[in-house]
Amino acid sequence: ATPTSIMVGTGRAAQMGVLFRKGEALQLLKDAKVVAVDKTGTLTKGRPELTDLILAPGFERADVLACVAAVEAKSEHPIARAIVAAAAAQGLALAAIEDFESVTGYGVRAVADGKRIEIGADRYMAKLGLDAAPFAAEAARLGDEGKTPLYAALDGKLAAMIAVSDPIKETTAPAIRALHELGLKVVMITGDNRRTGQAIARQLGIDDVIAEVLPGGKVDAVKRLQEEYGVLAYVGDGINDAPALAQADVGMAIGTGTDIAIEAADVVLMSGDMGGIPKAIALSKAVIANIQ
Ligand code: ADP
Ligand code: MG
Repeated sequence: ATPTSIMVGTGRAAQMGVLFRKGEALQLLKDAKVVAVDKTGTLTKGRPELTDLILAPGFERADVLACVAAVEAKSEHPIARAIVAAAAAQGLALAAIEDFESVTGYGVRAVADGKRIEIGADRYMAKLGLDAAPFAAEAARLGDEGKTPLYAALDGKLAAMIAVSDPIKETTAPAIRALHELGLKVVMITGDNRRTGQAIARQLGIDDVIAEVLPGGKVDAVKRLQEEYGVLAYVGDGINDAPALAQADVGMAIGTGTDIAIEAADVVLMSGDMGGIPKAIALSKAVIANIQ
């Protein structure tokens, strides 16, 4: 494409709320075969709510929720906000916290009210040597509903399973349909639970799911998809998406996402959702066709 056609194309894209930080990205986009997408904050709103709290025998709801929320008050994860909000809605007083630690990809831990507390995914409980099997059937059911099951341990005993649900953005399903109409594959890459990821993928008609990816694993997943399909666009909003955005042929950041994701991306989606992606791909094809 000529410099002029690229300039015209990126100008038209900007009017649609798609900012190209690099002109080459507009040329590359027409050849994209696969769009890899982060789940939380990209497909979904990134504002989960607590939906379920199931106690192990011998534990009390207010007690467990107050301890867990006290720990989560120190975390920046969207899951943490859901749990803190649930405790606040019940007017629970939060205990003082010591020794807070975020165990990236697994969960969080701290000492609250003299009790040792760990909260996180099933793999965190496994890492701690705790058996989450008593909650396996409930966790599977909640996962199949698209909810994320989490576990809380108090003083080394499994105390509760907590589920949070993050609504899908209204604009996501139409964007995925439009990508399919353009002949692209759509693959989800998420650190979340496998069943949860698969349930959301089913609701959206997403072709494939790579779930329970540890931080750093998103880049490897992107490399594998590039080998399998060819030119790849990656869409994400979080700090942990930055390496994948850089590795992608075209990295696309959600405009409402973190600065680190935006800096790593070639394209910024100003509308804060995936709506601009099929439009940008169609535009890329049109611009290149025009000058050939
Ligand atoms: P993602 O962006 O997909 O959530 P993370 O690496 O941040 O990936 O988290 C992976 C998993 O670790 C989460 O799905 C959750 O199960 C668990 N986790 C992370 N942070 C927290 C937290 N503050 N409270 C409870 N669980 C957490
Ligand atoms: Mg995200």
